[in-house]
Amino acid sequence: MEGCTLCPRRCGVDRTSAVGYCATGSLVKVARAAKHFWEEPCISGTEGSGTVFFSGCTLGCVFCQNREISREGVGREVTTERLAQIFQNLEKQGVHNLNLVTPTHFTPQILQALELAKPAVPVVMNTGGYERVETLRKWEGKVQIYLPDLKYVSTELSGKYSAAKDYFSVASEAILEMHRQQPELIWEGDLLKRGMIVRHLVLPGGMRDSLAVLDFLDKALPKGSFLLSLMSQFTPTPACGAFPEINRRVTTYEYQKVADRAAELGFAGFAQDRRSAKKEYTPPFDLEGV
Ligand code: SF4
Repeated sequence: MEGCTLCPRRCGVDRTSAVGYCATGSLVKVARAAKHFWEEPCISGTEGSGTVFFSGCTLGCVFCQNREISREGVGREVTTERLAQIFQNLEKQGVHNLNLVTPTHFTPQILQALELAKPAVPVVMNTGGYERVETLRKWEGKVQIYLPDLKYVSTELSGKYSAAKDYFSVASEAILEMHRQQPELIWEGDLLKRGMIVRHLVLPGGMRDSLAVLDFLDKALPKGSFLLSLMSQFTPTPACGAFPEINRRVTTYEYQKVADRAAELGFAGFAQDRRSAKKEYTPPFDLEGV
């Protein structure tokens, strides 16, 4: 196997015998494949999103709520054929879409599985936004809905909290490429069939950077051609203990300032009730459906 350069880390390791930053080998590892009702309403609908949580991650966020799978290796290795069956089983349950959570480091295997499964429902690429344009081009025609985060503009914050100083320069280009592939919103009733939803999680003390994120989106993309999902459920993890400035929830004032600016700029999309119960956002990684 050639050295892996699927993501911006470009570790160059042969993943049949070694692991890179994402800590995964050449077999796909999945922690859960089940209906999920806690995505944006146009993704979850009434029947749920067919969410497949992949183990490993190319980012290293200290506030990651899925650490068990992103860094601690929880999950089961499956063949490409088994992954195709997992996709088909979800589809049989009547889900509105197949929602691939953090799939980048398994790009070739997932594309093969999609080729075998031939899903009739939209495929969602649910990602932290830290993507190489070259890798995204491999997904062209296979993904109907892009669901990237845009976490930061500041190199200082992205370096400190996600171990990726180049996050914004990479993610901003990635979002432009995703939008090039899916440049408009196509709906079927209340459900999104094609398009892009950009998520942004407001961080404690990160208001100024959140405003910079909005400013970038405002200038980069036509209004109404994508959705913005502004999230408030930041929850400190034990790893946040090393960063006292983010070791707390976001205040109503901080979130509201950002939400007000998003409304002023005229973004279409979703804001979140700050009282949202946080538990439901992180399902158990118990190998259900794997
Ligand atoms: S996908 Fe993993 S091994 Fe490949 S370049 Fe990225 S972090 Fe490194």
